Amino acid sequence: MNVPIPDSVEHILLDEAMIQQRVQQLADLISTDYAGLRNEEFLIVGVLKGAFMFMADLTRRLTVPHQVDFIALSSYADATEATGSVRMIMDTRINVAGRHVLIVEDILDTGYTLSYLLRTFAARNPASLRTAVLLSKPERCKVKVTIDYLGFEIPDVWVVGYGLDFADRFRTLPYIGALKPSTYQG
Ligand code: 5GP
Ligand code: MG
Repeated sequence: MNVPIPDSVEHILLDEAMIQQRVQQLADLISTDYAGLRNEEFLIVGVLKGAFMFMADLTRRLTVPHQVDFIALSSYADATEATGSVRMIMDTRINVAGRHVLIVEDILDTGYTLSYLLRTFAARNPASLRTAVLLSKPERCKVKVTIDYLGFEIPDVWVVGYGLDFADRFRTLPYIGALKPSTYQG
């Protein structure tokens, strides 16, 4: 597939082939680690909207039975404090208690979002709780969060595509590109 590169994208950081190869590796690891569970024991929770493409590709490659569900988050306008920067605006429909839960997120930046999610889901008594995250920006990390399955570490640039957006644009590009700083600075 040859999708034209928008003017706002400075360069491609991760092309389709690199992403798909890594997603397959993560799916293989997860399939090994969660082998032997029944369908209703393994729940994969995707964080909308950013993780939708990663979630779809990852779950399609799993060889173990699993259920899927989604949550949606919203950042508070005043997103400065570590604890209250995010809130859930859509919760799972499946009850997580007693299930092995894997949270699938697009990107770890400061870490506030994922640490909020881990606290929230841990309080619901899952059988186990792990995270699969496609991208991480280690330079931006403010709170330490354990990622069990990480796709790629990337530099401190704003990335779009493969689910990730800038002002709800560029989300469905099949690759991950770095946005031109002029796009978000002016
Ligand atoms: P954190 O709470 O770790 O600072 O932020 C995580 C969230 O910030 C991600 O779920 C994502 O929505 C957003 N985010 C952080 N960096 C980027 C980026 O480079 N591109 C996009 N599209 N979203 C980002
Ligand atoms: Mg997000």
